[in-house]
Amino acid sequence: MKKKIKLHFIIFLILLWIISGFSISVYNPINRFEQDKTIDPGIEFDPGIESSDTSLNIVATISIIGNVIQNIVGSGSIITTIVSGQEDPHSYEPTPAEVIALREADVVFRMGIEDLEPWWSITASSINSSGDWTPTIVELKEESMLKIDPLLLAEGGAYNPHVWMDPNNIKNFTYKANDTLCSLESTQEDVFSNNTKAYINVLDNLLIQINNSKQELQGLKVVVSHPAFFYLFTLLDMDRVALIEPGEDKEPSAADIANVIDTMEQSGCKLIVYDPQHKSDSAYEIARTTGSELSLLTPLLGVEVAWNGMIKAISTYQEMIEYDLWSLAHPVEPPSLANYIWIYLIFGLSIASIIGVMVYFRYHKSED
Ligand SMILES: [Zn+2]
Repeated sequence: MKKKIKLHFIIFLILLWIISGFSISVYNPINRFEQDKTIDPGIEFDPGIESSDTSLNIVATISIIGNVIQNIVGSGSIITTIVSGQEDPHSYEPTPAEVIALREADVVFRMGIEDLEPWWSITASSINSSGDWTPTIVELKEESMLKIDPLLLAEGGAYNPHVWMDPNNIKNFTYKANDTLCSLESTQEDVFSNNTKAYINVLDNLLIQINNSKQELQGLKVVVSHPAFFYLFTLLDMDRVALIEPGEDKEPSAADIANVIDTMEQSGCKLIVYDPQHKSDSAYEIARTTGSELSLLTPLLGVEVAWNGMIKAISTYQEMIEYDLWSLAHPVEPPSLANYIWIYLIFGLSIASIIGVMVYFRYHKSED
């Protein structure tokens, strides 16, 4: 009889832990974005993009650049991308396999912004320790692209590094990368140049879509959790009233959050933009307190998002901008606190049951 009770307790415990683990993994949107690390960016091509016969070993530092280069070379070559999308580029460290890919590269395309490739200097000098690393290294960013972000002035770093969020800059990247690829492999020049033309059309079309969205979004006040969308919001003529994170990879304090709430109430801002690469707790909390809505936008590829009622992997730059425009026009309420209460209740029950089992065994032993 006592054995039966013991067995029931154990089964009950196991069930509780399974249910609580499951409900947390289903509920927590951050987990959803961390699950699939294998989404390959740049697989879908515009109909105008042909396949080349390139024999170049190409490495790109960030998924966005990888996608641009993939559109120039077509499906003929797989490009190795170092920071794939879910990772935070501001704090990334390359894996040993990625270091090998860099070592074997004929050409490396990078953004050329220290803040986005913090690993670059150390990794490049360690690969080149014996002086025989001679790939063509292309920095795509131009100084003129970097604009001063007023929300970053308090941090001391005034230039916003997320230049790729403006398709005009991506057009510039595309022309520059095409010039390099054509000079490295003249036999493929026609294919590369035709693909470049086709891809420039895709980017021009995105600029038209941004301009159309501007009719609806211009003047819209927004609070951002990370300053990744400065260049896109500038094109849309939106008004960013505050930044939640007090600095790169820094969590806001209670005072920071109170300041943001004050600013929102004073300015009448009712929208918060957050991203899948950073924690969403503060954005949710501020949205609940101020009765605001949220839009999840992504500045990187390789993440899954809820788009028009479907879960979709964002695998190209074009999809990313189109999704971001859609999400801005379709904000949602923050997840209800009732969900949290449900999770806490299950946790509470689990802990209570452990204490129950311990008390039972102690009582059982002293009886013997
Ligand atoms: Zn960033």
